[in-house]
Amino acid sequence: MKRIEHLGIAVESLEKSIPLFEALLNTPCYKKEGVASEGVQTAFFQVGESKIELLEASKPDSPIAKFLEKNGPGFHHVAFEVADIDAELERLEKAGFQLIHQSPKDGADNKRIAFLHPKSTNGLLVELCQEKNA
Ligand code: ZN
Repeated sequence: MKRIEHLGIAVESLEKSIPLFEALLNTPCYKKEGVASEGVQTAFFQVGESKIELLEASKPDSPIAKFLEKNGPGFHHVAFEVADIDAELERLEKAGFQLIHQSPKDGADNKRIAFLHPKSTNGLLVELCQEKNA
């Protein structure tokens, strides 16, 4: 793992949460992007070498909608940047971690991403990501 790329925070409303996080972090939201396959709208903030990703459900049956229903808004996942996501998934699966995605898929912010199941990571939802064309 190279670094913590971002922390994902589930929110009820990007419209309300973006100004809050802009005030909190004292930096503007630099990107908003939808990921249709995940039913999510995202907003990104740069914080030093890492980012904050806000996640709003864009359809009622999306994973974020279910998370909000169960837990309310707040911390959702940690994303680690890796140099080779395919190799890293293979390594983690061999080490006994349960993968949500067997192979990487397209995520927000020009990334290939995959999630590990929190059942196998002490309750922490872990995302691996690799910059495309990097
Ligand atoms: Zn993420």
